[in-house]
Amino acid sequence: MKPALVTVARPNGFCFGVERAVRMTKLGKKRFGRVYTLGELVHNPLVLEELEREGIRTVRRVHQARGGALVIRAHGCPPEALVRCKELGIKTIDATCPYVRKVQNVVRRMKEQGYLVVVVGERNHPEVRSILGHCGAAGRVYSARMRPRTSKLGVVVQTTMPRERLREAVANLSRLRYTELRVFDTICGEVTSRQEAAVRIAQKAELVIVVGGRNSANTSRLAEIVRAAGKEMLFVERTSELPREVLRNRAGIGVVAGSSTPAWVVREVAAIAKNPDKEEQK
Ligand code: SF4
Repeated sequence: MKPALVTVARPNGFCFGVERAVRMTKLGKKRFGRVYTLGELVHNPLVLEELEREGIRTVRRVHQARGGALVIRAHGCPPEALVRCKELGIKTIDATCPYVRKVQNVVRRMKEQGYLVVVVGERNHPEVRSILGHCGAAGRVYSARMRPRTSKLGVVVQTTMPRERLREAVANLSRLRYTELRVFDTICGEVTSRQEAAVRIAQKAELVIVVGGRNSANTSRLAEIVRAAGKEMLFVERTSELPREVLRNRAGIGVVAGSSTPAWVVREVAAIAKNPDKEEQK
């Protein structure tokens, strides 16, 4: 049987912000001994399992990190969480991605200048919640039905959103009458590159494997892209989920991965896609 031609999208492996957050967390563990993360550090079960093995636990509330250090993940956090850490004497390791920090700074500036801030993104996503936290009462999540009563509107976008969502939101808001509409395209370049690579791969491959956490917003977006291209798709978090029989006798298989998917999983998935009958390594 001829092995399938397997194309792996680039970039893959951790993005800059996730790599930095994981590195800072591990260094924090060495330095402080007891380290917790405020919410899941990344939306990937394999990474969380690895951290758990190293004794790094996830907590939901700040006070649960008493006696240790608390990592603020790449999504950032509302400012109140940092104030609470200070009050409770909890050390913090702030791994907010610099690109997310930039969005937080932009919305704070807009708030100070009297703008109503509209965030285009998923209401319950931790990054959006962290951005809203920096807007105070001046923040709203975009909805197509919104009719904010204000003359000055500032728009930012969740770093993992597809650009069409921003364009759509801006087109809708432009129809309303504002004296001023300021738009900041805060989409992360890393995310855009992965989405563009997914489009290219979905055009060519017969079957596309999307690798990443099911609760990862950016990985789900890659799956949406592949689905929209009408391609057969497998969405897996780990190699054990790969149905070998589906991979046999394929001419071309594409592999795309979210920004919180470790590079080693992508490599293993690609190896199995190429040779589904070979024993799984590890
Ligand atoms: S996807 Fe972009 S914004 Fe999000 S953590 Fe990675 S580098 Fe930062």
